[in-house]
Amino acid sequence: MQRVLVVGAGFMGSGIAQVSAQAGYRVHLMDIQATVTDRALKEIRWSVEKLAAKDLLKEPSAKILERISPERDLSRASEVDWVIEAATEAEELKRSLFQELDRICRPEIPLATNTSSIPITRLAKNTRRPERMLGLHFFGPVPLMGLVEVVKGEKTSAEIFERGAAFVQSLGKTPVRVQRDIPGFVMNRIFSAALREAVDLVDQGIATPEDVDLGMRLGYGWNVGPFEIADNAGLDTCARVGQSMKALGAGHLAPSSDLMERMVAEGRLGRKAGKGFYTYSSEGKRLRGEDKKNSR
Ligand code: NAD
Repeated sequence: MQRVLVVGAGFMGSGIAQVSAQAGYRVHLMDIQATVTDRALKEIRWSVEKLAAKDLLKEPSAKILERISPERDLSRASEVDWVIEAATEAEELKRSLFQELDRICRPEIPLATNTSSIPITRLAKNTRRPERMLGLHFFGPVPLMGLVEVVKGEKTSAEIFERGAAFVQSLGKTPVRVQRDIPGFVMNRIFSAALREAVDLVDQGIATPEDVDLGMRLGYGWNVGPFEIADNAGLDTCARVGQSMKALGAGHLAPSSDLMERMVAEGRLGRKAGKGFYTYSSEGKRLRGEDKKNSR
């Protein structure tokens, strides 16, 4: 059985761990905060049992869940066949993580990052295996979304790039190949441009988040609007991605207003905090009547 180490057990790491276990991999899920790993295991259990109740799994939920183990450090890195880093979006943090992973992991294994914005080439700089580093950019919520961008760094070998695409397919997802390593890759550049404009329009009082989302659904066929996506992703993560895009010279794709930064400072982090552009019940259900009152 192949082993996967997922580094970071937040919104994305927990989803990546879940779909990897569902696909038959043995998963080590690591976070520096034990409370986050505990919460991730609970959420994975809830999600897997829900899928089992709908008869959507090939095996009993207990078998899937027992393949995931929580970790407090990177010591398991020497035993794994794949690493997927899904820690906080901060370049220095990710660079030092990869330096350590490169030191511990077997030299032949690929190291993947789920970064939303930072070029793979920059994250590979401190490692001795830039040809084995690649981006595997999942979309959240990972158990529900079918896409993974596979990103080729300047030095990523063709073999590792294709191995990344095959790994994505082994998880039941569809790979889209990004052949050149630019900040935000492809999908996040396009989405960031839409979110930037949406945030700036709302901050100027031109439309409410609810009306923008409704308009994008009805007018452009989006399944969910930009503010619904941002609330699900976490406004802290969205703000970090915006800061990162600016630092990487792609500032035109980040909001020019500081609305999201202000919301983060007020603890309005999106669905996980019960309030963001919308408000949510303690079970994470959107409270529709409250939308307008809480949208600014
Ligand atoms: P999150 O804040 O939910 O989780 C990040 C986790 O990383 C936290 O639990 C934190 O404790 C942990 N962490 C920080 N430093 C660590 C370290 N040194 N070792 C191990 N764990 C560490 O964030 P998220 O939304 O899951 O995002 C994670 C990554 O995925 C980011 O790079 C983000 O840009 C990217 N991403 C996010 C989304 C999204 O929709 N949120 C989508 C695609 C990609």
